[in-house]
Amino acid sequence: MSSGLLSIAEARARIAEAVAPLDVDSVALDDACGRVLGEEIVAEHDVPPFDNSAMDGFAVRAGSGGRLLLVDESRAGRGAAVTLGPEEAIRISTGAPLPAGADAVVPIERASVEGDMVALDAPAEPGANVRRAGEDMPAGTVVVTAGTPLGPAELAAIAAAGRGTVSCGRRPRVAVLVTGDELVPAGARLGEGQIHNTNEPALAALTRAAGAELVLRRHVGDDADQTRAAISAALEVADVIAVSGGVSVGPHDHVKSSLIELGVEQRFWGVALKPGKPTWFGARGRQLAFGLPGNPVSAFVCFALFVRPALRALQGAAFEPRRGIARLDTSVQRSRDREQALRVTLDARADGLFARPTGAQGSHVITSLLGADALAMIAAGDGQAARGDEIEIELL
Ligand code: AMP
Ligand code: MG
Repeated sequence: MSSGLLSIAEARARIAEAVAPLDVDSVALDDACGRVLGEEIVAEHDVPPFDNSAMDGFAVRAGSGGRLLLVDESRAGRGAAVTLGPEEAIRISTGAPLPAGADAVVPIERASVEGDMVALDAPAEPGANVRRAGEDMPAGTVVVTAGTPLGPAELAAIAAAGRGTVSCGRRPRVAVLVTGDELVPAGARLGEGQIHNTNEPALAALTRAAGAELVLRRHVGDDADQTRAAISAALEVADVIAVSGGVSVGPHDHVKSSLIELGVEQRFWGVALKPGKPTWFGARGRQLAFGLPGNPVSAFVCFALFVRPALRALQGAAFEPRRGIARLDTSVQRSRDREQALRVTLDARADGLFARPTGAQGSHVITSLLGADALAMIAAGDGQAARGDEIEIELL
């Protein structure tokens, strides 16, 4: 396996090739945060829907000055009943409809009321403090495109565009299997040689954070029959299977052979990545299966680099995660033949965005995940990546 390792980019290309986006669900806006939009959202009407005031003040005709007669009021949700005439003003609140006949608003701070008259400090310019209909979204314009991940900002824009329900890519159904005779559940007492099963809670949470639905989770021992039975059960219910551990070349590693026996076709095994070299990927029809390394950091990093993009792409998002550029805050020893995915914190300073490793980076060092903002990708090679070097980062 040491020869023929795929680059991260090649591995991703093979995954992307195997992804066929799932169908769409109709989703109420309140349930759509974190989902991927499966249609184009077009403004059903102008936004704002009508000309309205940007300030609390007085609606007037531009150019009129001096003392004006107050003839009505326009409030948010209830406009004035009259048309504004010359030498007249109408009280107006922020967001209230601009009355017919008015074309400017004088803020309350620039006017003084005396009985039923208002005196303006100065005449208003045409359009002053008026928000025009359609200024934000003219009716018929595309507001949010298909494939966009929905966050609070998108929900606000979609609601403004007039929609209460949207099509979103169906949540992929995911099975998380962890292998290892040494594992005991979180919270249980450790016996001789045992460790806590940390991948199961981590992978379950990563799955949900990617907008997917966890439909099965199971711990299996290092036993070929058990492994095959669990994978078989997973293939019954899941779009995506993520298995941790048992994917290397040891005598107790049964994951690859079980997947292949059950009809999952290997698409790659082995990535020039540190941590994460033994990562395995295969497909059976539209179902995808990932064999993730057992080491907790490797499992986490490989999920972030390979599984998460697949889960998002299944929901209709672009496969390629967004990357950025940062500068190393410290020198880093390169790995001769593997790209490294360092867990880093990011610090925005006057002289740029700096990435600093979270500490020791061993694939068993779970604490290296704590507080990590991003993965910093360090190309393979000899010597060191120097402090100040520009590197690619991928946000976690
Ligand atoms: P494996 O890939 O099965 O050879 O496991 C590699 C390393 O990861 C070993 O030290 C395992 O004990 C550890 N490991 C495997 N699975 C888990 C898990 N679910 N939680 C924590 N550590 C694990
Ligand atoms: Mg194992």
